[in-house]
Amino acid sequence: MQETINYLKKLTSIVSPTGYTKGVADYLVEELEGLGYNPIRTNKGGVNVVVVGKDNSKHRVVTAHVDTLGAMVRAVKPDGRLKLAKVGGYPWNMIEGENCLVHVASTGKTVSGTILVHQTSTHVYRDAGTVERTEDNMEVRLDAKVTNEKETRELGIDVGDFISFDPRTIVTDTGFIKSRFLDDKVSAAILLDLLRIYKEENVELPYTTHFMFSVFEEVGHGANSSLPKEAVEYLAVDMGAMGDDQQTDEYTVSICVKDASGPYNYEFRNHLVNLAKENKIEFKLDIYPYYGSDASAAMRAGAEVKHALLGAGIESSHSYERTHVDSVEQTHKLVNAYLRSSLV
Ligand SMILES: [Zn+2]
Repeated sequence: MQETINYLKKLTSIVSPTGYTKGVADYLVEELEGLGYNPIRTNKGGVNVVVVGKDNSKHRVVTAHVDTLGAMVRAVKPDGRLKLAKVGGYPWNMIEGENCLVHVASTGKTVSGTILVHQTSTHVYRDAGTVERTEDNMEVRLDAKVTNEKETRELGIDVGDFISFDPRTIVTDTGFIKSRFLDDKVSAAILLDLLRIYKEENVELPYTTHFMFSVFEEVGHGANSSLPKEAVEYLAVDMGAMGDDQQTDEYTVSICVKDASGPYNYEFRNHLVNLAKENKIEFKLDIYPYYGSDASAAMRAGAEVKHALLGAGIESSHSYERTHVDSVEQTHKLVNAYLRSSLV
């Protein structure tokens, strides 16, 4: 598991809010070329790897997304602070207090800051705890001596500059992994590690398999393009959602039976369950109520495939997330078992 954790740490260290993913794509291309693959950069910015299998007439697609939640500069305020516009879906309280970087397009430099509600100082604002967090009162306090709009603009900052959040990745000696963006960099790390293993051990997969690292998942249209006409199965590897009524936990792999887009393919799901049982992989079936994946995006875009979704259990998703190395391991095992199995 250590290699997968190393890939994960590397991936979370590279900022990649949706729309600002060139850095992470560059890393993937470099790493994959180093492993001996010929990655393809798609027009959209994703990175695909085609691994030719024993049967080249029917293809598989497996995806993980490397884009994350983030924000953009919405406006420069009269006091020199910044208003934010969200990139991806999350409530404002999930980023309150987080350190951030403003990626200044005009200079290529970054300016650090912290995301706060305007009424944060409890010694001044009676409603610091209760005021509703909205786009109007959330702001970036820049680590620069600025007190007005002009001084902030002199840093080169303008509307549309991307803002990334500090991932704060920590792996504890009890095996917990705490970080932002485990959704979906855990899955990307797993796919990278499987590609490493297949190359190093000269594994021939049963079918030609397209590994897709997508970059627009958080806004709903990630890997819904570049699908080969031979594709018959499409597996999205993405986080398992935890909470009340959820069976998913931080120690097993979660197999999604249905999300907001509707049910996943029944035979495909049962195939994954059978593989888990045969290989003694700990799994949980679950429904993710407010969720869509690259697989469901592909279906909506007209893909004619069987589709499925599985992933590691991620606690407090879209906030400061957590999982355990056990869940990463079970997910790694199930994706591997699937890629080496016969078609559904
Ligand atoms: Zn995700």
